[in-house]
Amino acid sequence: MIKKIDTFNIVNKKVLIRVDFNVPINNGHILSDFRLNAVFSTIEFCLKGNAKVILMSHLGRPKGKELKLSLAPVFDYLCSKFPNNKVFFSNDCISDESINKSNSLNSGEINLLENLRYYDEELSNSDSFAHMLSKHGDIYINEAFGTSHRMHASNSAILKYFPNNKGIGFLMNKELEYLSNIDLNNDGLALLLGGAKVSTKLGMIKYFLNRASYIIIGGAMSFTFLKALGYNVGKSLVEENMIDEAKSILNESKKTNTDIILPRDIICSDEFSNDARSKSRKISEIKNEELGLDIGIETIKEFEGVLQDSSVVIWNGPMGVFEMEPFKVGTNDLANKISNLTKTGKIVSIVGGGDTASAVINMGIESSFTHVSTGGGASLELLSGIELQLFKSWRNYD
Ligand code: AMP
Repeated sequence: MIKKIDTFNIVNKKVLIRVDFNVPINNGHILSDFRLNAVFSTIEFCLKGNAKVILMSHLGRPKGKELKLSLAPVFDYLCSKFPNNKVFFSNDCISDESINKSNSLNSGEINLLENLRYYDEELSNSDSFAHMLSKHGDIYINEAFGTSHRMHASNSAILKYFPNNKGIGFLMNKELEYLSNIDLNNDGLALLLGGAKVSTKLGMIKYFLNRASYIIIGGAMSFTFLKALGYNVGKSLVEENMIDEAKSILNESKKTNTDIILPRDIICSDEFSNDARSKSRKISEIKNEELGLDIGIETIKEFEGVLQDSSVVIWNGPMGVFEMEPFKVGTNDLANKISNLTKTGKIVSIVGGGDTASAVINMGIESSFTHVSTGGGASLELLSGIELQLFKSWRNYD
């Protein structure tokens, strides 16, 4: 039984929270604070409950102690967000100094530990490293949904050092609530998929085939399906080794209650560039030298109609190359549609992490979705019906 943070007596206790502060940082500037803010309710709960808060996270994939992957900018951010609480930064996560700092905290104070991945032992799930980390806390809370599909020291080996005093925070609870408790008997369940590859979303497609009413496919992955149906997709991105798989999914869907919906028209260009000239093409008219980089207007209308008829929408993967101005229309239009349907109470909307989350965050509309996940790989696994590594480890140490 996994306990939630609000079932613990946290008064005067050191609460060691594994967070996911793996945020984009450029020249010391945090480019997106979405993942930081997502755990604030848990931090605030601890501070108000007179606990001492120790935060640990990884950042990027450092080779040794790379300065540009220091969590120092996150420390500055925390200081600005918690002006009434003392916030400390330990420039090492397992040094005696850092452990002493955690042990000398007063209630209502925070100690942020430096990047866990400065030690290779984090990735190798080292028991001795986990043991050192465990010395920071009386209670262990996992809030790092973004790494919950990994077996690393701070979310796996460490669990054994907290036999009866480990739990999850409000964010993890919310992620699990929306991503693993989906009502699969719901008649109006629609899966909206996009992005680059079929292979990374194959598990999800298979899991939802015969469970969802609709699987709507846009993005580059639609070209593998269109090619499987015999269309010429020109120079569009295709996963040749997935064509047979795509054919079998399309055949399988005829035997199930799931409709697979593919684009009717595509925004094509001769080149993959920001100032490329683009033209709209019916899927039967794509030229050999063209690449499809976004869904077309007819497709947007059709996809919107299906979403309108749904009651739960799970969205994973952009509809086009949304990073480039001319090819963001499909992604943005559907994001606005899903956001509006959610605001009027017509649908429950769940957005997978990664690029899809970035797209809605860039548009500044993330708060109008029912749930925007903080984890890309982890949300994909949960939505493919896979048990997260974190909870497999948890069972071993329960
Ligand atoms: P994924 O991580 O599989 O969800 O893929 C996201 C990436 O897919 C984004 O970087 C998009 O630019 C890219 N993408 C979406 N549609 C296309 C397309 N039609 N052609 C090339 N890349 C695309």
